[in-house]
Amino acid sequence: MHTPDTQARPSLYYDYQVHSPWLPTPGQTPAHARVLIVGTGPAGMVTALELARHGVASLLLTAELQVSAGSRAIVFTRRSMEILQQVGVAQRVTENGLPWRFGNSYYRQQKVFRLEAPHDPDDRFFPMINIQQQYLEEYLLDACKAQPLIEVRWGNKVTQVQPQAQGVTVEVDTPAGPYTQTADWLVAADGGRSGIRSALQLEMEGASYEGQFVIADIQIDLPLPTERLAFFDPSWNPGNTILMHREPRGIWRIDYQLPAGESPEEALQPQSLRARIDAQLEMIGLGGTPWKLDWSSVYSARTLTLPDFVHGRVIFTGDAAHLLPIFGVRGANTAFQDAQSLGWHLAYVVKGLAGPQLLRNYSEERVGAAREIIDEAGKSTRFMTPPKGGFSLLRDAVLSLSLSQAFVRPLYHWRTSRPHAYLHSALNATGDDDALFTEGPGHGAPPQNVRLGPDAFLLDHLGGGFDLLYFTTQEAIPLALLETLARWREKGFPLRVIAIGSATPVAGADLTLADAQGRCRQRWGIRASGGAYLLRPDQHVCARWLNLDAQRLGDALRHALPQ
Ligand SMILES: Cc1cc2nc3c(=O)[nH]c(=O)nc-3n(C[C@H](O)[C@H](O)[C@H](O)COP(=O)(O)OP(=O)(O)OC[C@H]3O[C@@H](n4cnc5c(N)ncnc54)[C@H](O)[C@@H]3O)c2cc1C
Repeated sequence: MHTPDTQARPSLYYDYQVHSPWLPTPGQTPAHARVLIVGTGPAGMVTALELARHGVASLLLTAELQVSAGSRAIVFTRRSMEILQQVGVAQRVTENGLPWRFGNSYYRQQKVFRLEAPHDPDDRFFPMINIQQQYLEEYLLDACKAQPLIEVRWGNKVTQVQPQAQGVTVEVDTPAGPYTQTADWLVAADGGRSGIRSALQLEMEGASYEGQFVIADIQIDLPLPTERLAFFDPSWNPGNTILMHREPRGIWRIDYQLPAGESPEEALQPQSLRARIDAQLEMIGLGGTPWKLDWSSVYSARTLTLPDFVHGRVIFTGDAAHLLPIFGVRGANTAFQDAQSLGWHLAYVVKGLAGPQLLRNYSEERVGAAREIIDEAGKSTRFMTPPKGGFSLLRDAVLSLSLSQAFVRPLYHWRTSRPHAYLHSALNATGDDDALFTEGPGHGAPPQNVRLGPDAFLLDHLGGGFDLLYFTTQEAIPLALLETLARWREKGFPLRVIAIGSATPVAGADLTLADAQGRCRQRWGIRASGGAYLLRPDQHVCARWLNLDAQRLGDALRHALPQ
């Protein structure tokens, strides 16, 4: 019998709600689900919300009765906010989070590098925003509750998985005993220790790193701005690294590396935590400031991914698919991108708009993303916590040179999570003008936002289906283009035409955006009326033309919407 914790988790700032478990009715088999999602972390809930946007119902199971234990992910990127905007929770994150874009790196108490993440008036969201994962999960959960196509079952732990040719059967344990659930598709969003990954005996590729970090959240009032702080080789923890981040509700995250040979149990002893956090506060000139511990954990970096995210009717996403280091804030931020991608790929297959081979594209694109992130994250991790030998020697050389030589300082640059461009996606058009553009997002890239008014941006209008952005100063969309689009719409594909560049509504367009200053044209590299972009439901570019004609539009649609 599954017995999830029914005591609200302790927290100085977050009021945990304990949800009631869903219990099976004795003698009744629960209805078959089209899509069963295991896990209500960021990956599971965003997948469910994306599926619902495409009209596909899902059943979410989670072993626990509460949201994330501890703050875990606290830094969310601009692209994550753009994805969260699509599923309706970005506003709550903006209202309650702490936006930022600067970081400072210190070597032996001397400031050696200042990170300035670019932020221009065309961006709706800051490069980063800090908020604890409990809040983010709460907002996602509220969005799921408001969506009739999503059912959430708390306290339901999946204990066995039996994949079949046309579906999946899982055994689920609850506080009232077990039941059997069947589904057409199973999404494994069950986190880093994925039991589904183990049940299928799937091996991950990649590396694990030696260095261990204490992650401690403390309640403290510090007179410091919301900027990321990194201290290398500090006086109280020689040779090691310390990170500090401000969180909402008077909380600071202090991460510090453990001296070699110290066990996690020793490191989490209250007297050890107190001595080290006091030493850190002393070092930054704020010793004696009163503080209380909220949550602590020990973390070691891994860069691991499954080489394939789709195994028959079982699809992996988020931490269940890959384990990425927290340096560069990659875990949850990558999970959002996985989930946004999986949502539309799976929805199109479930709705019969595409064959199951479309899911190969999901796997290829997202495994490609994970491998790129692993490559970048490996570099950050080797800098933060260098393995012994050559890496350590090189890192120490960079650190000491940085005191006198400006040219090495950019090596401190913290390679932050960024969205992957699907440069080699099978969905990218072959006969378009991608290579002729000199500006704007290219094949596979995420979109470029543009400010349209005081509180109005281009991305507010994009996504959900395929979007044709047609830049025009004419009164109407050419008839031949509309006829091509109509043929695809008749097959059930959601396709919208957004006309950009006319002050009055353009006939045949679903929406007209004025672009009075020509800012969209400029940022998207459009040279003349008749230029266009085709965007996928996840807003990534799959075709672009300097001058669009019906023949090439048809070719691009056939390429991007394989049936
Ligand atoms: C200390 C720490 C700091 C971090 N900081 C950052 C950061 O700043 N930025 C960032 O992007 N990421 C960060 N991360 C990583 C981030 O927390 C994870 O990447 C993110 O939670 C992954 O989301 P997920 O939905 O894939 O998995 P999870 O959030 O782990 O969710 C897994 C879900 O599966 C459920 N589950 C598991 N097994 C079963 C089962 N058998 N049956 C039913 N349900 C099950 C769980 O109850 C849970 O709901 C951090 C992680 C840690 C530990």
